[in-house]
Amino acid sequence: MVVQTERDDATWYECESCGLLFDEREDAATHEEHCDAEEPSYIQ
Ligand SMILES: [Zn+2]
Repeated sequence: MVVQTERDDATWYECESCGLLFDEREDAATHEEHCDAEEPSYIQ
């Protein structure tokens, strides 16, 4: 999931799975689709 966050007076979009920050929401969404860190932890 992508979460919006404010940092240094700028808006960033963070991949909730691995913590990567993006300045474009579209980039974050694209990354999130292919994020390796995204594992269904609720199954474990
Ligand atoms: Zn990620």
